[in-house]
Amino acid sequence: NDTVFTFGGNAPHSNARQKDKTVTGGKGANLAEMASIGLPVPPGFTIVTEECLKYLAGGSDFSEKLRADVADALRHVEETVGKGFGNAADPLLVSVRSGAAISMPGMMDTVLNLGLNDETVEGLARTSGDERFAWDSYRRFIQMYGDVVLGVDHGLFEEALEIAKEDNGYYADTELSADEWKTLVAQYKSIVEEELGSPFPQDPIEQLWGAISAVFDSWDTERAKVYRRLNDIPHDMGTAVNVQAMVFGNMGDTSATGVAFTRDPSTGEKAYYGEWLVNAQGEDVVAGIRTPQYLTRARREAAGADKPSMEEAMPEAFAELSHLFDLLERHYTDMQDIEFTVQQGKLWLLQTRNGKRTAKAALKMAVDMVDEGLIDEKTAILRVDPMALDQLLHPTLDPDAPRDVLTTGLPASPGAASGKIVLDADTAELWANRGEKVILVRVETSPEDIHGMHAATGILTARGGMTSHAAVVARGMGRPCVSGASQVSIAREGRTLSIGDRELSEGDIITIDGANGQVMAGEVATIEPELAGDFGTLMEWADKHRRMRVRTNAETETECRMARQFGAEGIGLCRTEHMFFDAGRISAVREMILADTEKGRRAALDKLLPEQRSDFVTIFEVMAGLPCTIRLLDPPLHEFLPHGDTEFEELAEATGVPIEKLRRRAGELHEFNPMLGHRGCRLGITYPEIYEMQARAIFEAACQVARDSGDAPVPEIMIPLVATRRELELLKAVVDRVATDVFADTGTTLEYLVGTMIELPRAALMAGEIAEVGEFFSFGTNDLTQTTLGVSRDDAGRFLTTYVDKGIFARDPFVSLDVDGVGQLVELAVERGRATREGLKLGICGEHGGDPASIAFCDRTGLDYVSASPYRVPIARLAAAQASL
Ligand code: ADP
Ligand code: MG
Ligand code: MG
Repeated sequence: NDTVFTFGGNAPHSNARQKDKTVTGGKGANLAEMASIGLPVPPGFTIVTEECLKYLAGGSDFSEKLRADVADALRHVEETVGKGFGNAADPLLVSVRSGAAISMPGMMDTVLNLGLNDETVEGLARTSGDERFAWDSYRRFIQMYGDVVLGVDHGLFEEALEIAKEDNGYYADTELSADEWKTLVAQYKSIVEEELGSPFPQDPIEQLWGAISAVFDSWDTERAKVYRRLNDIPHDMGTAVNVQAMVFGNMGDTSATGVAFTRDPSTGEKAYYGEWLVNAQGEDVVAGIRTPQYLTRARREAAGADKPSMEEAMPEAFAELSHLFDLLERHYTDMQDIEFTVQQGKLWLLQTRNGKRTAKAALKMAVDMVDEGLIDEKTAILRVDPMALDQLLHPTLDPDAPRDVLTTGLPASPGAASGKIVLDADTAELWANRGEKVILVRVETSPEDIHGMHAATGILTARGGMTSHAAVVARGMGRPCVSGASQVSIAREGRTLSIGDRELSEGDIITIDGANGQVMAGEVATIEPELAGDFGTLMEWADKHRRMRVRTNAETETECRMARQFGAEGIGLCRTEHMFFDAGRISAVREMILADTEKGRRAALDKLLPEQRSDFVTIFEVMAGLPCTIRLLDPPLHEFLPHGDTEFEELAEATGVPIEKLRRRAGELHEFNPMLGHRGCRLGITYPEIYEMQARAIFEAACQVARDSGDAPVPEIMIPLVATRRELELLKAVVDRVATDVFADTGTTLEYLVGTMIELPRAALMAGEIAEVGEFFSFGTNDLTQTTLGVSRDDAGRFLTTYVDKGIFARDPFVSLDVDGVGQLVELAVERGRATREGLKLGICGEHGGDPASIAFCDRTGLDYVSASPYRVPIARLAAAQASL
């Protein structure tokens, strides 16, 4: 297998392996593809990802084969460009760039201008006829190589540069002359020598391998690992390395560099969107050193900026660029994120990839591209990440609410967020873990801030454009972000900041609006999301293409209404115990629990009956005619017990039972391991009157609604925690008897089912027998995960993160179903259950019902429906459609 692939010049047209992103990385695969369709890409070569894994596993060494292949590939670049690597007369310079299969923006390192040394810099000056440019490039190289490869603190270089600028009274880097850069290069070199005790490496070949090592090593940095964890990217993919001939955007006023999206990544609008800088190199745009300029005239005018857009300043290069935008979008049939450089009027492409986008933009682009005939409906469905929909389902700022606007920055990532100001990532994480909402406020963000950005509900930066690190990462995470709010000035020592003339401190509440860049004091009121438009269209397509039904887990009227709005097709799990906690009822519930005779319990249950009945009436009305799975009482009784003296006193007063007796009874109910204790159907077996009351409430309510509205609900009564056929048999008999009674009393008969949750391994194993009695199964995968893994879901947080980090679990098994293990039990139960009862209705009601990967598994396994919490219903509809395609 090849270790290296070349591209550009007369390199062979890229083959299947070279086009495979897992082999050459996203950047390498696309560079090769662009070169092979004749686009202007500087020539280069890609070292495959497998070499990264070998290097990391094999003690940071390179094979002889790799060394030889790289030497050959380098010759290809030299011949194509007509310059020599290390040739003092006419030197070839290269960039060394990382590039993983799944893009990790800003996470890994790049070195530009490699191949410069004390001799080649002279050659570069001579051949370019531009001394200033040559020395500017050399100092850039020492700084980047020093930082990325040699580990010298980049602050030291910046400090030296700041001093040089101050001494000369300059504002911008571009003002420094050739001689001043020369002096600075000498300083940079002594900084390196002082820090490392050895001089800056002069041998270009040594430089090259040093940079390759650094890129490989960057795969395993802490920040890269955190990024992969947050984005569910496997740790064992490795990164490719791209070595590419340099083109120079820093050769004066006819040169420039920029980044662009073919459509607006925030809103999805079909308009070029990007930033550029004259006389600059790639890093300058993203690093926020200089404030970049707008790409198009329309944008510049809309923003009221003075500095000319590229469209105005370089009309020819811009015209060519927009032609390439359209070509690339058609070629990849998706919105592209493109890096380009103009060297003395000549345009070069340095990268293209499918651009990251907000959920809103993803939706709009998917729907627009179907209208434009670029993609079909199925592709559109697959284009939108179901989890990203979450961003659209949450409230936005009420346009009519009063706003105390402090300042306005750039609308870098949409959505609104309110929270307490925090000034660093660690504090953000700390406060968020305490359950507080925080807004991370920084001068600019860097990859070290990722954990804080993740913990924050919103991000505000003083510097940086729309393609800055903060903006890109925030959009990826779905966090609202306002960037480049230059009026924000942070005094870190005092943990205060000023915004314009207003003084604020860490902990003060602010609101940011990522849609228009506003920053406001205090909390601003919000409104509900818009579910029509593009969202509605995509959901319609999803519904057309999915096989599984989508229900919701809901028990209150509000939840049921919300879920229906979101398109739920029934209730998959109504947890009746939640109704027991209501203020007016808890004392009757406690009275029932603490009664020591059946008679006492029945008296308390009689008080609860009308309450439960009215709950069900409401639910059945809202869910008009749809199936509703109602689970009978499940949690251990002690969860309802009074806490503390006052609650005991109140209960004693309300029931007239002496307090000592109440306490004694409460003591009797204590369990050491309640989740494996007296709960679920075990309650129904020991106290059948509880389930009897619940069944009566359900049937009476259902008959009433059927009579009143004509829309008869289909109650599906679910017995929890069944392990044996006999349990279900006994309890089904109770339910059937109540049904017969109620139907006789009311003169109304309706269809209903009695089934069970499969949430114990034994139930899954005995599914064949259980299905002889049960008319449906719902997989309670929360408990099934807990009981199969022997991991307590309430306590697992303490070690699960470590387990995920060490690769023991790919993902938290309570979030994403352990398909390999727990999944087998599900498959087995499906097979055995359907073997004894043809057409057995099957669903899932654990948290997994809202997780796209688990939903895909449910589809494969042949379940009839998934059930998710109301906000997850649209996610589940889309994920179910994706699973069907
Ligand atoms: P990242 O993945 O962080 O964007 P890149 O490898 O894409 O890193 O490069 C960083 C910057 O350097 C980009 O702006 C890119 O366009 C620029 N760059 C990379 N290689 C070259 C090159 N050969 N010539 C000119 N600019 C380059
Ligand atoms: Mg890039
Ligand atoms: Mg359970």
